[in-house]
Amino acid sequence: MTDFAATKAQFFLPDGMIYLDGNSLGPLPKAAEARVQDMMAQEWGQMLITGWNKAGWMGQPSNLGDRIGRLIGAEPGTVVVGDTLSIKVYQAVASALELRPQRKVVLSDSGNFPSDLYMAKGLLRSLGPDYVLRVVEPEDVANNVTEEVAVLMLTEVDYRSGRMHDMKALTELAHANGVVTVWDLAHSAGAIPVDLSGCNADFAVGCTYKYLNGGPGAPAFIYVAPRLAQSVRPALSGWLGHESPFAFDLDYRPGAGIERMRVGTPPVIQMAALSSAMDIWDMADMSDVRAKSIELTELFVERVEATCPDLKLASPRDPAQRGSQVSFRFAEGYAAMQALIARGVIGDFRAPDIMRFGFTPLYIDAADVEQAVVILSDIMNNRLWDKPEFKIRQRVT
Ligand SMILES: *Cc1c(COP(=O)(O)O)cnc(C)c1O
Repeated sequence: MTDFAATKAQFFLPDGMIYLDGNSLGPLPKAAEARVQDMMAQEWGQMLITGWNKAGWMGQPSNLGDRIGRLIGAEPGTVVVGDTLSIKVYQAVASALELRPQRKVVLSDSGNFPSDLYMAKGLLRSLGPDYVLRVVEPEDVANNVTEEVAVLMLTEVDYRSGRMHDMKALTELAHANGVVTVWDLAHSAGAIPVDLSGCNADFAVGCTYKYLNGGPGAPAFIYVAPRLAQSVRPALSGWLGHESPFAFDLDYRPGAGIERMRVGTPPVIQMAALSSAMDIWDMADMSDVRAKSIELTELFVERVEATCPDLKLASPRDPAQRGSQVSFRFAEGYAAMQALIARGVIGDFRAPDIMRFGFTPLYIDAADVEQAVVILSDIMNNRLWDKPEFKIRQRVT
């Protein structure tokens, strides 16, 4: 059994704050501060260029990839970290499209995160006027998986509502129609158990600064199924994905397997922080995390509905249908969230009216949830949000 009191003790959480926004940016692992400082002083400072070999910097993208792989059902040697998630979406969709050269349609849904749609559109525009991005409602995805589609690009857990797609069923349906799948695990990795291998997924991507707690700017990850990894062409063919980067060959030859999905120099300082976060994940079992997450989200929904009649549940009521977040609709949701943040309960707001709360068993417990609802119901029932200072929109909501 995962000891959640022990994992909670590994994080720095400001006094008096209840942090329900780990779905946007995870908190600081206490050990990361010393780990990063040590990396800077002992490795960068003392070793300089030799750190690439001596401190193993060059192997870190794959080492961290394997550690993340354990949480998402990926075989060792199938995940590598680097770049940002938007870049990895582009890379995965580009490689996936090349596997179906006769087809020109990428299918996605309106619940996808806009950056994924923007990246796909930008890519398709470069490929030519025949290529189209087809965006349907989430519940219509299955009906639109046809033999015309080259790539099905979906985010498993909807960033606003937490609604979850059935990865296994949709991947099976896709394969039956010759469609290649790209799954975005931004709100899945560290949030729910994922079984990429068992679902026979083709490509998957995700970020490490949300539920995985790698810190702001932590690198993304990409998975390629082992049956494809030796044959896919990496559209972003950078030197570190080359078979032999230090041969400085003028021609590109893709590296072995997942290594080819590397692009350029990895962010070594940021990877040091991420490795501290992964040390905490080593203490956790994803099925325990899921069970606890359901307990916390159920408690939150039950208490909010009992005490805040103005808030309307925007997430699926059945916990099996949602990820590790819960959203409520309220017309003045922005102001209400600002009022909540001013009282130390941190969630976030997504336009037009969604108040979003993330539940992260590694450092949030039932007492936190109960306390958060006491504060939320005070704000709602006494209209404490109705103040000019809570209505001023900031750049990041
Ligand atoms: C958070 C998120 C992103 C963000 O991409 P970055 O390149 O890391 O800024 C992209 N896609 C999804 C589905 C997300 O949830």
